[in-house]
Amino acid sequence: MSPITAQLILKPKREKSVLNRHPWLFSGAIGRVDGEPQPGDLVQVLASNGRFLATGYFNPHSQIRVRLLSWDVDEQIDEDFWHGRLQQANRHRQRLKLEPATTAYRLVNAEADGLPGLIVDKYDDFLVIQSLTAGVEAHKEIILAALNEIWQPKGIMERSDADVRAKEGLPKISRVASGESPPETLVIQENGIQFGVNLLHGHKSGFYLDQRENRTAVTHPHHVANKTMLNVFAYTGGFGLYAIANGAAQVTHVDSSYDALVLAEQNVGRNGWKRPQDEYLAGDAFDILRHYRDTDQTFDMIVLDPPKFAHSQRDIERACRGYKDLNWLALRLLPPGGLLATFSCSGLISTELFQKVLFGAAVDARRQVQVIQTLTQGPDHPVLLTFPESAYLKGFLCRVW
Ligand code: SAH
Repeated sequence: MSPITAQLILKPKREKSVLNRHPWLFSGAIGRVDGEPQPGDLVQVLASNGRFLATGYFNPHSQIRVRLLSWDVDEQIDEDFWHGRLQQANRHRQRLKLEPATTAYRLVNAEADGLPGLIVDKYDDFLVIQSLTAGVEAHKEIILAALNEIWQPKGIMERSDADVRAKEGLPKISRVASGESPPETLVIQENGIQFGVNLLHGHKSGFYLDQRENRTAVTHPHHVANKTMLNVFAYTGGFGLYAIANGAAQVTHVDSSYDALVLAEQNVGRNGWKRPQDEYLAGDAFDILRHYRDTDQTFDMIVLDPPKFAHSQRDIERACRGYKDLNWLALRLLPPGGLLATFSCSGLISTELFQKVLFGAAVDARRQVQVIQTLTQGPDHPVLLTFPESAYLKGFLCRVW
């Protein structure tokens, strides 16, 4: 078991965010390090007067020098600690009663489940873990053992291949971490709809689990029955398959990934639907939307679910221009009374800012836009009040006049 290897003493008046239980301690707040902690080691954080504040794990390679795990001086960060936090996350998921209609969901949402740097998703009988920090890396074997004990999966995939690993000085890893390999295409169910997922090579951990509740909300039969839908940034069909299940007349799926669209079309067949009328267009969303504008094409409903545009503070302005252009283009393709479901998964862009961007697009497109529902990530992706950064997904369902 890794003992505490060092004590970090904060500069005067820098303890507020730790006392407020924000789980990140930035390098600038640290006055002195007593000891020689290695990446991933457990450390204690003390106020400038020497008072204990919290325990966390250290990484000298990251600006986020410590990720805090406990504010209780008596809590040991041992096997029982990891086991207990994982059990707590499990209990929360069980209360959501997602199974059996839904067999894929997030079990552990990192900081928001008290486990900074660790993401665990369940896909049917398999688990996919992402270790994003040196601290999780150092405790990975304990974590894997606990995951096996609590969930008894057939296998655990490791998809520690997110770009943020580089900021921690960690290489990318993609492997079978324990047990069996999943089939090349594992079939999961979400609200009774079947999706094929490739756990070792798909985006993120294989599927965009955070959009589950929004897929349901946006494709209510009142909204989509007998309507046409343009599903932009479709990935493996997500919103489009729900629309088909709820009676959409025709769906056009757009994505830059040809492979994702192949899976989307297979997913439609997998659910027993015969849909010669649907289209699958591989290409750049902006180009395709411009083409529809230039050819006066309209759709009753448009879904815009782009990838993250803002990766750092520096990107925010450029990202907002991208969101504005995208929404402006989509607004041009909607008839009066049409519906727009528009999302941003950039944690750095707040709901308020995203709403302002949408306002700018509406003004420029000379359209009246009514927000009929504000959308966010599902309950298996909880948000900590002390860590507002965990609220990254936001969206609006709008009626457009
Ligand atoms: N709506 C999907 C998730 C979308 S994720 C669902 O419900 O599952 C974002 C998608 O955007 C990815 O599939 C990615 O391949 C695609 N993408 C990224 N840049 C793109 C671009 N410029 N044009 C079209 N698609 C793009």
